[in-house]
Amino acid sequence: MKSSISLFTALLGTTVSIASPLMAQQEQTSILIDNASYWTAGMNAASGPMDILIEGNAIKSIAPEITPPEGAEVIDAKGKTLIPGLIDTHVHIMDTLSPNALKNTDLFYLAFLAEQNAERLLMNGVTTIREAAGPSMGVKRAIDEHLATGPRIYPSGAAITQTGGHGDFRNLDNPTPQKGGYADETETMGLAYIADGKAEVMRGARDAFRKGATQVKMLVSGSVSGLHDPVDVQEFTEEEIHAVVEVAENFGTYVMVHAYNDRSIQASLRAGVKSIEHGNLMSEETMKLMADKGAFLSAQTYTFTQKLPYFNDSQIEQLNSVNVGLDQMFTLAKKYNVTITHSSDIYGTPENFANAPQEFILRQKWFTPVEILEQATTNAAQLLALSGARNPYPDQALGVIEVGAFADVILVDGDPTKNVSLLAKPDDNLSVIIKNGEIYKNVLPD
Ligand SMILES: [Zn+2]
Repeated sequence: MKSSISLFTALLGTTVSIASPLMAQQEQTSILIDNASYWTAGMNAASGPMDILIEGNAIKSIAPEITPPEGAEVIDAKGKTLIPGLIDTHVHIMDTLSPNALKNTDLFYLAFLAEQNAERLLMNGVTTIREAAGPSMGVKRAIDEHLATGPRIYPSGAAITQTGGHGDFRNLDNPTPQKGGYADETETMGLAYIADGKAEVMRGARDAFRKGATQVKMLVSGSVSGLHDPVDVQEFTEEEIHAVVEVAENFGTYVMVHAYNDRSIQASLRAGVKSIEHGNLMSEETMKLMADKGAFLSAQTYTFTQKLPYFNDSQIEQLNSVNVGLDQMFTLAKKYNVTITHSSDIYGTPENFANAPQEFILRQKWFTPVEILEQATTNAAQLLALSGARNPYPDQALGVIEVGAFADVILVDGDPTKNVSLLAKPDDNLSVIIKNGEIYKNVLPD
């Protein structure tokens, strides 16, 4: 008993001692970005020259000529293009290792990998992400408290998966819990939550919110990589999906679902799901329903170019089918004016996270540079705002350059409204990265 009290006291001491340097970093500062061209959603092209003044964590003013306030840091943009920080609505910073490799690690190691992934994303110009499966709440908190470097995070917590679903990585000879089975590392580490029936899926959702999820993720269809859940399968019943939607709505937020096929997407939409992840195999009828329900399409391209070394023939066949589906999906989404967001579904280690911006190249097959920029800024911000009462960054706008918005901006060497491929090489083409009014990268000469 005595030792546990002293541990608690020691922890309290730690909290007090780190509080002061953190507060010092949050002091009011001003940054004047001088002589920039700029773009924000609603503009057909970049325009300038313009001055943008940042005060604290907000954009204070935008005008052709602003006199720098006393003590302001002045960045001469030399006509480069300032755009809102990018938002990725489907990322897996926690999904760093294969289910097998998880057996030989612990959450502390995973957190270090996740932090490296988060930092790589920020250096890609991504200032906000939605984490799509896993215990990212601690990493989010560490970033918000300046203990680590990375984007703003909207965590989903453990993805709710059915027995045998996309998130069930147990060995085949591990029985269900009712028959003496045991949870594997994917579950014990909080990446997935296996549940069947209304009561269990609701418990999974409530547990995610208990841990700080801002929305809940459900895996409602088979997957490309799945060995035991082919991509044509619907996972969960409409009733189970609706039960999770009800829990999310009780928490003032929404549900996002991994879903490829018509059957699973339609069930989700009828159940009240607001964010469809992937969606590659949807028909015209389903896309119409997406539009009717006002659901968002959080779709990807780059991830489907990745034929993983361990893929067998059926996995390769599934990969090919979802790649073929992409063309129809994006064409239909445009036809029915469904809101598409930028998302990469990037996972693994920082080396792979460096590939996430390939998304900006591949989407040009269907979209103009300005459309692609809108997907990565306002469209994505609208989706994240559905987290409503659970929104961790509620007070100011995200994904726009306007007075009062969060000062999340990146300076591009060139004009991404004409050449959006510039964003695919962030190390070369991003001169300045600012998140929450703080400079994380500035390679411009003083
Ligand atoms: Zn994913």
